[in-house]
Amino acid sequence: YMAKEAGRGRAQLFEPVYAQAVDQRLDLGRHLRNAVEAGTLQAHYQPQLDLRSGRVTGFEALLRWTHPGRGPISPAEFIPIAESSGLIVDLGQWVLREACRQGRAWLDAGLPPRSVSVNVSPAQIWNVDFETTVSAVLAETGFPAALLCLELTESLFVDHTEQRISRTLTALSCLGARLALDDFGSGYSSLGYLTRLPFDCLKVDRAFVGGISIAPEKRKLLGGIIALSHGLGMTVVAEGAELPAEVDVLGGLDCDLVQGFVFSPPVAADEAPLVAASIEREACRARPKRNRL
Ligand code: C2E
Ligand code: MG
Ligand code: MG
Ligand code: MG
Repeated sequence: YMAKEAGRGRAQLFEPVYAQAVDQRLDLGRHLRNAVEAGTLQAHYQPQLDLRSGRVTGFEALLRWTHPGRGPISPAEFIPIAESSGLIVDLGQWVLREACRQGRAWLDAGLPPRSVSVNVSPAQIWNVDFETTVSAVLAETGFPAALLCLELTESLFVDHTEQRISRTLTALSCLGARLALDDFGSGYSSLGYLTRLPFDCLKVDRAFVGGISIAPEKRKLLGGIIALSHGLGMTVVAEGAELPAEVDVLGGLDCDLVQGFVFSPPVAADEAPLVAASIEREACRARPKRNRL
C-alpha cells in the first residue's frame, strides 16, 4: 500500500487501508448478526483423551462460521468482532445451547457420558445474568450440569475486583458445572488466581505444549505447572499437542488430558463419536509402549 500511495499526503497514505478494514469488520458484523437465523453457524467438537484410561472423556465445542461470500472464517477473526459489537452474548448463548443439546443427543444415542466444554467470553458473564442463562439451558436441554465445562480466560479478570469474580465463579460452580481456565500460559498467568478461584481444570496453552519433546526447560516448567495444579485439586488439559512424542512426554509429566491435532482437529458433530472411538482404539494399541516411558 505504501508504495502505491507514495507521493500522497500522510493522512491519505493510511486512510483507504484503514477504511477498508473498518468496512470489512462492519460487513462481517452484519453477516454475523444473521448467522444464527441463516444457519451458517456450526459447533465443531475436538476430542480430549484421558491419558491414563485411554478414553475420550470429553469434547470442546468450537464455533465455525461460513460467511456467505467469503467461505469459512476463523473464530480468531470473528470472535473479536462479535465481542466488540456485543453480538457475542447471542452467539455465546447459541453455542452453549447447541453444545448442551448435542451432548444430550449423544447420551440419548447410548454413547458413553462425555463432557462438553464451551468457551465463554467475559461479556457473556458480565453483561447478562449468565448464571440464570446456564441453568435455563441445562434445564431446557436436559444435559447434566456435571458434564458441562465452562472455559474462561484471564481476560475475565480485567476491570473487576477479585471479590466480584470470585462470587460469580462460585455461583456458576454451584450449578454443578465445571470451570476451566483456558489458555493458561499465554497471558499473565497469575498463580494467585489459581489458588483462590474455584477452577476445576487448567488448560495449558499450546505455546507451552508445542516443542516439549525437544525443549527440556519447557518440559520442566510444564511439569511444575502440572504438579502445582494437581496439588490444588485441578485437572490439567494440554492443548495443541501435535506430535506423538509430545503425548509421551505429557504422559510422563502426569498430565491428565490431551487435546490436539495429534488425535484430531475439531470435527462436525456427526463425526465426533466415530473419531472418539477410533482414538480410543489407537490409544489402546499404543498403551503398552507409553507405559514403558
Ligand atoms: P481455544 O478455546 O483455546 O480453542 C483451542 C483452539 O486451538 C481451537 O482453535 C483449536 O482448533 C486449536 N487447536 C487445537 N489443537 C490444536 C493443535 O494441535 N495445533 C494447533 N495449531 N491448533 C490447535 P479455533 O477453533 O480456531 O478457535 C480459536 C479460539 O477462538 C478459541 O481458542 C477460543 O478462544 C475462540 N472460540 C472458538 N469458539 C468459541 C466460542 O464458541 N465462544 C467463544 N467465546 N470463543 C470461541
Ligand atoms: Mg477453549
Ligand atoms: Mg485454549
Ligand atoms: Mg482462546
